Amino acid sequence: MIVILSETIVNSLHREALRQAPDEACGLLLGEKKDETIVVSKFIYSKNVTVNDPRLTFEIDPQIHFRCQKEARAGAPAIIGVWHSHPSSAAVPSKTDVECSVEGGWVWLITGKQDSSWNTAAFLTANTDPKFFEMLEIRPLNP
Ligand SMILES: [Zn+2]
Repeated sequence: MIVILSETIVNSLHREALRQAPDEACGLLLGEKKDETIVVSKFIYSKNVTVNDPRLTFEIDPQIHFRCQKEARAGAPAIIGVWHSHPSSAAVPSKTDVECSVEGGWVWLITGKQDSSWNTAAFLTANTDPKFFEMLEIRPLNP
């Protein structure tokens, strides 16, 4: 499985991660899954509405989620996963991420900060086990 992601989207993820730091930033990923390829065509930013510590966890605004579901039913790209940032740790799923993961076959993009640079990694949860994260290769949109 590979995930195709445009430079424009990666740049906006890094921009939001920086803007919200030291809190975690988050959003939804819209796109399409086909055979062995996942194309992320759009990123929808959400405010982090967690009631817990926003430096360590995130929650997508349910209104944004609802709106995207409604638009997808009307023909917009489907929700295929979620993005969030780790402003002070690496781009790997945290213990909390694993605990909170409930959707199988869901793409997780994580932008982490190590040393002073941001980088983004992609994971896919197993269809049968949302706690199992497989790392995906990211390819640019137009190689
Ligand atoms: Zn996380």
